[in-house]
Amino acid sequence: MFNWAKTKLTLLYILIVSIVSICFSLIIYRDILIELQKSYQTAEYKLNNQPDIYSARRSIVLSYLADELDQTKKMVLFRLALINSFIISLSGIAAYFLAQKTLQPIENAVEEQKRFISDASHELKTPLTAMKSEIEVTLRDKNISLQELKKLLNSNLEEVNKMQNLTNYLLSLNRYESENLEFKKEKFNLGDTVNNVLEKYKISAKDKNIVFKLKIKNLIIRANKTSVEELLSIFIDNSIKYSKNNGEIYITIKQSNKHATIEIKDNGIGIKASDIPYIFNRFYRADTSRNKNENNGYGLGLSIAKSIVDLHGGNITTESTPEKGTKFTINLPL
Ligand code: ADP
Repeated sequence: MFNWAKTKLTLLYILIVSIVSICFSLIIYRDILIELQKSYQTAEYKLNNQPDIYSARRSIVLSYLADELDQTKKMVLFRLALINSFIISLSGIAAYFLAQKTLQPIENAVEEQKRFISDASHELKTPLTAMKSEIEVTLRDKNISLQELKKLLNSNLEEVNKMQNLTNYLLSLNRYESENLEFKKEKFNLGDTVNNVLEKYKISAKDKNIVFKLKIKNLIIRANKTSVEELLSIFIDNSIKYSKNNGEIYITIKQSNKHATIEIKDNGIGIKASDIPYIFNRFYRADTSRNKNENNGYGLGLSIAKSIVDLHGGNITTESTPEKGTKFTINLPL
């Protein structure tokens, strides 16, 4: 598809350059012809008004001049044709590179879209396949007990929850990346919002005996409150998920220049330096088998977080050491 589009665009660019170049050449040729004709006519006039030249000699000179005029016309035509073919061939090469440059971002976006659809379908296929095979096995068992049926339903419910989480993530991502997003900003207290979000994670932190160490101050920011709550949830959820039992999570809010700075630091499993550049990519999960097996996730949280921070004109930095922990610093304009 893109090769054909590239060829068409190249031909279109060549056609435009050719039309412009040929039009200019025709104008130049016409002007040169007029000038030559004028010079010839002046020479002819001067010769005709020279009484001391024999008429035989005059006609020889005039025919010589006419020949010269003809030769010059042919020469001008030949040179213009040469210049035009040179311009057209050069523009052909330039047009090919220009077409490639024009189409590259579109090609990348289409490739990314394809990859996204394939990754999302793959993530949805896994729980569906698990559910399907469990149901098929259960249906084949004629003596199934009520207890076993309940076990099947519970397992199916788990898969349905996973799919629900994934669709929620996909909807969020789609919302934040949509061009015509209604993004209302309001003033609110960031400290209160952090405390509210932490309430939701008290149980999961307690399950792993994780303690939160807070340095939170009252700081009023102007932002989209719902998305900031979602942003904080993503980082707090990750810091719990990727912490070992008895871990500590430090959350700090500071004001620096015209920014509110939120630091979320854990002493969990950390991220390899080679993975850090990719963790904000959609569906990217750092390749530690322990991480993938133990933690349910789709690699979408941080890409949603990045979209939210980008929409606010802020930035995120990551510092991490494997087996020591990770610190995310989020700067949001006040
Ligand atoms: P996931 O659903 O896998 O958590 P995210 O997009 O939230 O997806 O994170 C992407 C990857 O970044 C995770 O799979 C994990 O490898 C790594 N990661 C994110 N936060 C942390 C953290 N606090 N500690 C260690 N690794 C993390």
